[in-house]
Amino acid sequence: MPVALLVEDDPQIRRLVRSAMENEGWSVFEVNTMRRAVIDAGTRQPDLLIIDLGLPDGSGINLIREVRTWSEVPIIVLSARVDETDKIEALDAGADDYMTKPFGIGELLARSRANLRRPRNRAQQSDLKNTESSEIESTFKFGEVEVDFRARFVKRNDTQIHLTPIEYRLLTVLIQNVSRVLTHKQILTQVWGTAASEQSHYLRIYMGHLRQKLEIDPTQPKHFLTETGVGYRMVK
Ligand code: CA
Repeated sequence: MPVALLVEDDPQIRRLVRSAMENEGWSVFEVNTMRRAVIDAGTRQPDLLIIDLGLPDGSGINLIREVRTWSEVPIIVLSARVDETDKIEALDAGADDYMTKPFGIGELLARSRANLRRPRNRAQQSDLKNTESSEIESTFKFGEVEVDFRARFVKRNDTQIHLTPIEYRLLTVLIQNVSRVLTHKQILTQVWGTAASEQSHYLRIYMGHLRQKLEIDPTQPKHFLTETGVGYRMVK
């Protein structure tokens, strides 16, 4: 049974999330402070953390940073803050996903499942060279596309699609982080290097190329999604 740790000081939200997740077979532990969360994240060994940013003893962002020093557990942020800068800060601190209150419980459950399935070789700022990691599955399929990482071969409906080295690298980073929201800065750093971390226009251009080559309808992307003002998310 997967274990979730819910860090939230609003008892109504705790009750709602807990009952919905338990119905789906999760085991849920609740805490209402950062201090307790740090302890329980260590002792309960959760498979998922759901973190509210406004906690009575501090910001959930600090909690994310703390947890990320020793754990790669998936983290979903639940927050009443709607500012893009808060989302970016939480994601750059190491959160995998972000939901703004009020949120749909069905969507939280879907994202919880997606984050649980995602392979744990997350691409962090520190492992830039990890794109050909052996931990990644050797093939990945989405829509009409199949990517063969060993052969560095991308095909769509059995026809080879030529990708430039940058396009291929971008695709690999997105696949490694499937379902996860990546900020512009995270993607730029991993694909182009730290010097390019502010060059969002590179990313817009190359995401356009991937959509043109790999989406059924590039104007209505189903796999390479824009998270407005924040970054991108690849979905299978
Ligand atoms: Ca709160």
